[in-house]
Amino acid sequence: MPKGFHYGRTQTRHYTCEYFKISAISFKKLIDSPVGKYKINSEHLSKEHSNFNLITTERWKRVLIFRIKEKQIPVPLNIDKRSASNKLYLICPYCSQQRQHLYAVSNAYGCRKCLDLQYACQSERPAERLARRIRKLRREIWRNEDWLDTVNLFERCEWYPKPKWMRWEKFNRERDKITNLENRYWKLQEPFMKQYAKMGIEW
Ligand SMILES: [Zn+2]
Repeated sequence: MPKGFHYGRTQTRHYTCEYFKISAISFKKLIDSPVGKYKINSEHLSKEHSNFNLITTERWKRVLIFRIKEKQIPVPLNIDKRSASNKLYLICPYCSQQRQHLYAVSNAYGCRKCLDLQYACQSERPAERLARRIRKLRREIWRNEDWLDTVNLFERCEWYPKPKWMRWEKFNRERDKITNLENRYWKLQEPFMKQYAKMGIEW
């Protein structure tokens, strides 16, 4: 962890909601986009946090290179082939772990752990918990349907097919339970979605 990310002994807690986050899912198209200069459209980000160079390396198919305060901040895009859904992640420039979100701090982008950020936003924490629960319930029902993107909450499970081993009655009941949780999840996400909607990526 680089210097400057330590906040000293004051033990001031910093929270994820204080920082603008970029999400892997919003960069999906970049995996097959030509290399070159791009820009994240967001009024919450500085010019240096918005502009990046898309490059390709031997190790990574696509890497976002930001230049923030005279320093290069590389953020590789990684498709996790171990998951059936080939989920896209951002690689944290500091711990090299794959993350769904990176947070914009004054001199870099980093993950929640490296920046030592706490989840404390009132609606964020229950949303994370709900998301975990939804994914777990989905896995229980559709564990054999590899082709379904069960981790992706942008996909509603409403139209997912009934597995052969399950009775209709039970299936309807279980699926309704998940759809209700999904509705609750999206209600909690509404304020964040408005923020995302404002953040478009210019191609
Ligand atoms: Zn990290």
